[in-house]
Amino acid sequence: MIGHRFDANGAHFAFTDRWGGVSAVPYEELNLGGAVGEEPAAVRANRAAAAGALGLDPARVVWMNQVHGADVVEVDGPWGDADVPSVDAIVTARPGLALAVLTADCVPVLLADPVAGVAAAAHAGRPGMVAGVVPAAVAAMAELGADPARIVARTGPAVCGRCYEVPEAMRAEVAAVEPAAHAETSWGTPAVDVAAGVRAQLARLGVRDVEDAGVCTLESRDHYSYRRDRTTGRLAGYVWLNREET
Ligand SMILES: [Zn+2]
Repeated sequence: MIGHRFDANGAHFAFTDRWGGVSAVPYEELNLGGAVGEEPAAVRANRAAAAGALGLDPARVVWMNQVHGADVVEVDGPWGDADVPSVDAIVTARPGLALAVLTADCVPVLLADPVAGVAAAAHAGRPGMVAGVVPAAVAAMAELGADPARIVARTGPAVCGRCYEVPEAMRAEVAAVEPAAHAETSWGTPAVDVAAGVRAQLARLGVRDVEDAGVCTLESRDHYSYRRDRTTGRLAGYVWLNREET
């Protein structure tokens, strides 16, 4: 259920795998995405189970309506009756409030400055990485008092640069914006390494504490991959700050 978990000075980061939920084929088992064609009741049950495994109240987990852009919104509580905003990053200074990002190949990016008590979650697919969603999230954190030198960044399971084949023109377009994302597949064709692009962006901003879960979703049967399976579920990444230690 929880494939990866990191804890650092009162900041918590977690990434799910696909096992341990109630979803049937083709979403088996722990689909956490609400917009992939599955029964809402199953998604609710899975979200409650994942939150429980993390010691979180599912009502205090904030989700986004992700659109592959670079917009960020600050949040200080659940959306309630308000429309879920169409953004690809959320930032909070509220301890105990968990921010969640959904993926199936895109790079889930979790950020926290435990000293300032500021956290952010970002969805960085190829378009979002190129558009700068991660720098936008770091800038929004800085507005709330975060210092990039203190930010802890964790990236989760995503399609790797050796698997993410793209047309040559697309690789050139991406590399013109972010040279670090230029890649080649293991079979020698043009590719994009989105996570490498994210790491380069974070490094330029002065974020030094960066670690990756080290899982390629397309290669791992324990994770959802849109490129492999098309109709499939979504993994989630969660970040939150302790009430006590911030
Ligand atoms: Zn791979």
